[in-house]
Amino acid sequence: MPTPPPADAEARRAIVPVICYPDDTLPVPDLAAYRAARASAVKVAEVVAAPREAASFEVPAGGFFRITCVDGPQVGDLNVWARGNLAERFFSGKTRALHGTHLSTGDRMWSCFPYLRPMATIVADTLDWYGIDAYGGSVHDVIGTRCDPYTHRLLSGGTYHHCCHSNLTRALAEATGLPRTEAEAYVHDVLNVFMCTGFTRDTGQYFMKASPVRPGDHLEFFAEIDLLGALSACPGGDCSAEHSSDAAACYPLRVEVFVPPEPPAEWVSPAPNGYDRQHGD
Ligand SMILES: [Zn+2]
Repeated sequence: MPTPPPADAEARRAIVPVICYPDDTLPVPDLAAYRAARASAVKVAEVVAAPREAASFEVPAGGFFRITCVDGPQVGDLNVWARGNLAERFFSGKTRALHGTHLSTGDRMWSCFPYLRPMATIVADTLDWYGIDAYGGSVHDVIGTRCDPYTHRLLSGGTYHHCCHSNLTRALAEATGLPRTEAEAYVHDVLNVFMCTGFTRDTGQYFMKASPVRPGDHLEFFAEIDLLGALSACPGGDCSAEHSSDAAACYPLRVEVFVPPEPPAEWVSPAPNGYDRQHGD
């Protein structure tokens, strides 16, 4: 039985919310300068994440990387680390707090403590027309974690080796030479590229629905620092029905890296957060 509501329950519920981190307190990226640099950038690398596999890639600070849907609707799970320092990695939770549940152009991927700096800035998103649908769903979320063999085992009792968590682990192990057991500890909550998700309004449960992505759609980023990235082509395909299995139609995702001859005007690679880490008396 739930606790009986107090006499002023409705008054408490009626309190108007405030935004935790208003947009105007965040440094704003100069997208026009980024785009001007991008116009003269040349492609220096390309990798393909095969269906139910992951691929790694490196992007120098001042460069760009583009994730493209190629053969059919497909969701990608993205991890990024500071190249040369796996301890600095994408911080999904703080990024969500700063930018909201789903990312698009102008939003940043922020790194974990004690670094907390922009790792990458989204400069192009061909799904930015989607907005928030009638179910509260939107694309490119930072609310999910990544499909993984532990939750799969918990819920089904089965074993599946090609969840995004495992795909990212294998890709990071291969990129760094670390044993898989060590590499696994650096795999983190993802940016769910092209995935369409939300929370149900009545029960607050995490939901997914068929991604609106189609071949040719892409999401493009500017690298604020030197990056190592890994992208998994989720075994859920467009995530319309299930994941953690070989049942869904699954397609590759392409990652291209571009480097401009000159970095964007006035741009400086961000330093780690300036807090002194003394934490008071
Ligand atoms: Zn997945």
